[in-house]
Amino acid sequence: MLSSQPLWEILFQHVPIAVLIVDQKRIILQSNPLFAKLVGSETKAVHGKTLDQALLLLQPNSKTLSTTWSTIPTTDWVTDQKVKLANGEIVPIAYQIFSIPNDDLEPVLVLIKDARRELELMELRSEFVSIVSHQLRTPASAVKWYLETLIDNRRGNPINEWQSDKMHQAYQSNERMISLINDLLNVSRLDSGKFELHPKSVDLSKLIDEVKSELVHFASAHNVEIISHLPSDLSPVTADSDKVREVILNLLTNAIKYNQPGHHEVIIAATVKDKMIEIAVQDQGIGIPKKGQAHIFEKFYRADNAVESQTEGSGLGLYIAREIIRLHGGDIWLTSEEGVGTTVYFNLPIYGS
Ligand code: ADP
Repeated sequence: MLSSQPLWEILFQHVPIAVLIVDQKRIILQSNPLFAKLVGSETKAVHGKTLDQALLLLQPNSKTLSTTWSTIPTTDWVTDQKVKLANGEIVPIAYQIFSIPNDDLEPVLVLIKDARRELELMELRSEFVSIVSHQLRTPASAVKWYLETLIDNRRGNPINEWQSDKMHQAYQSNERMISLINDLLNVSRLDSGKFELHPKSVDLSKLIDEVKSELVHFASAHNVEIISHLPSDLSPVTADSDKVREVILNLLTNAIKYNQPGHHEVIIAATVKDKMIEIAVQDQGIGIPKKGQAHIFEKFYRADNAVESQTEGSGLGLYIAREIIRLHGGDIWLTSEEGVGTTVYFNLPIYGS
């Protein structure tokens, strides 16, 4: 027998995910039975309520679900919320929001699902990466030590130019592997919330000078000159010195390695803005194509022109940099034009402010 229910309604009721349609004021217009089950209520009882009244959100400060709808773009799955179920259980949820183009109502479609399994898998993945990286670090450090012994020629045995050259190449490759392992460890610590900061008063000028000296040979090999514009009386910032050092090292390394043919300058400058110190790293390199700019701080993302010009790279540096700066209460952003250059900015709070 054919049901008199329209097909869309049957679908709406049986889709294995909580579906809601809300208006711009976040008032629930429609919802399916799975949403009612999630909040432990009757489907009809939630209609007319606001999303916040129906859903007991436990992290009201999260970026999307709690801001006004007019500022909400269509999102990917977001997992920054937990809800308290009717039985008292606290459950992480994943949700996705779509604005529906419609002249009058401008409704918003919200999909919600229980994210326990997803988060469990994420934890397992992060644990796996952490174990593998730790295991790889020991042999990589041993190789580094052996190569250093050979390069320094500690026994005084004669080696020819060819052998010395190959040893240096092996050393550089091993260094890249160690840096990749460290990046993976950092990512797994960041993802599992185990990334610890030890903030204190930090002199950014000193830190920048140290990183600059470390990069002198790398810069000259790429025909780049690093110039710093740092006020002599720059106030200290509140930061974890080692972590911010990693950020500066990554930004300067990128500015150098994504250089264009010819001699160019990389400028690192500091200015004071609203109780924050803002650092800008400006280059005259290959730039970032417009369509890639929105993804540039995502894990593993590399723009097409970068993959062509530099085969080596993991796409983890900017992701780690953004997470480190955000953990410090700062922000990081960039402006870029393909073929002209890139400026990456970040800011950190002035010490004591
Ligand atoms: P990696 O350099 O290892 O690929 P990053 O996370 O540091 O990883 O950078 C991500 C991507 O951002 C790069 O692959 C490149 O596409 C782009 N990028 C970063 N910095 C610059 C820059 N200064 N100039 C041009 N492209 C850049």
